[in-house]
Amino acid sequence: MPDVYIFDFDDTIIRSPRPQDASPTSSWWRSPESLKQPHIKSDSAWSVALPHTYDRIIEAAGSCDSIVVVLTGRPPTLAKEVSDVISWLELPVDVVMAVGSPIVDNKLAVIWKLLNQDEEIPYMEIWDDRADHLLAFRHAIKHWSPDTRVVTQHVQ
Ligand SMILES: [Mg+2]
Repeated sequence: MPDVYIFDFDDTIIRSPRPQDASPTSSWWRSPESLKQPHIKSDSAWSVALPHTYDRIIEAAGSCDSIVVVLTGRPPTLAKEVSDVISWLELPVDVVMAVGSPIVDNKLAVIWKLLNQDEEIPYMEIWDDRADHLLAFRHAIKHWSPDTRVVTQHVQ
């Protein structure tokens, strides 16, 4: 199996546009408009890209045996809008998955499926701006697949 790289989307790949009062549970995050003009533009999306994550995605995609996954808690109805931003940034990712709430449970379900392929995943790297999510992922992976080396990166 290849090494697997998993990147959150909001505030991990881009500094997401939002109204000042948008809480994590705000309907803003479920609206297609949140990822369209005038909030984010196709020809200047790079201006909200977070450079360390951007560089790491390019690097990960360039290594010979890797899978790069964008795994976002945005609802499945916004998969296209998220994919559009990824393509505006010309990021070479293999798959974009929008799983919705409850975010940690739904992301863990994807990670569990990845780990339960025929062959073991030797290395899994996860980038996210939410430290509590990273902790949950790390604990679950250590439990499910003790021989997989896990690296987490907290994006701030
Ligand atoms: Mg995020």
